[in-house]
Amino acid sequence: MYNCKVMNVEEIEKKIYVKKIEEKKKLEFSLEVFPPKDDSDGEKLSNLIIELKKLKQYNPTLVSITYGAGGLGSREKTLECAKKINEELKFNCMPHFTCVNSTNDFVLNYISEITKLGFNHILALRGDKIKDDKKQSNKKSHFEYASDLIKFIKNNSNINISAAGYPEGHNEAKSLDDDLKILKMKTDYGANSIYTQLFFDNEKFYIYFEKAKKLNINIPIIPGILPITSFNQTYKMTQMCHASIPKKLFQKLEKYQNEKEAIFEIGYEHACNQIKELIKFGINNIHFYTLNKSNITNNILKECL
Ligand code: FAD
Repeated sequence: MYNCKVMNVEEIEKKIYVKKIEEKKKLEFSLEVFPPKDDSDGEKLSNLIIELKKLKQYNPTLVSITYGAGGLGSREKTLECAKKINEELKFNCMPHFTCVNSTNDFVLNYISEITKLGFNHILALRGDKIKDDKKQSNKKSHFEYASDLIKFIKNNSNINISAAGYPEGHNEAKSLDDDLKILKMKTDYGANSIYTQLFFDNEKFYIYFEKAKKLNINIPIIPGILPITSFNQTYKMTQMCHASIPKKLFQKLEKYQNEKEAIFEIGYEHACNQIKELIKFGINNIHFYTLNKSNITNNILKECL
């Protein structure tokens, strides 16, 4: 006979409470940075290390490092930045890669460099097509879409592959549903997590998330949060990446656009609210677009972790 202990309601409630606390503790986050431009003396990279160091106490899961689409020297800049971050701060890194104008050999070589540095993760992207660039269009390319790249990496290495997702749809996609079919393809070909484009309206993310679940996309979908510190910069970014700013937030930002501290406060409050709501929704991983600065992310982590 089994010696089975029946729990009373109080014990069950206590267990649920402890589980909730444990779940709360499990909130993870990653930090996205870009390799500094025009940095021949390495000063800007050193400054980036100083900024990231301020966030070390919160123990980020990884730092993701962007890759300049198709541009010369992108590979070196991204890897050099990842190497320095790891050497100085011991952070795990996920270098990005954009496949426009890349050959199979170039990709294999990049992956080999990543693994030599001790990392085992890549964010596999198509990148933006460069318009009217003769140099780029003459280049041989083995990949048209990120899905081609993901399939190739999966078939030729054991590295973890993440992909990009767009809660408001990618700007070239006919519809959100069409774009989600592409997301499903990227997942089926071997992506094992999705990092999303920045968004300011959680409702857009919830719809996207539920639609993805309906398509049997069962890998983590990690929301991308941009803490706003400047109206102009945020406006430009949203235009570029097809993300909308909710009307009320836009009006506030516009009103205080010349008051740095007020914008910082609005950005901080909005990001904290977004994250707290996402946690309630069941999300336990957040991707921060840091723009190479630590200040606002630091305050947000202090409040939300
Ligand atoms: P894809 O998944 O290939 O999608 C591109 C478009 O083509 C979409 O409209 C999609 O619906 C469509 N499509 C895809 N596959 C097919 C198919 N088989 N048939 C028909 N249509 C298809 N850019 C950089 O240059 N460097 C970076 O480091 C960088 N980091 C990023 C990080 C994140 C988290 C995100 C969300 C974006 C990032 N980007 C970066 C931007 C990204 O490169 C652009 O958004 C780019 O336009 C699309 O890349 P993708 O990998 O999503 O492309």
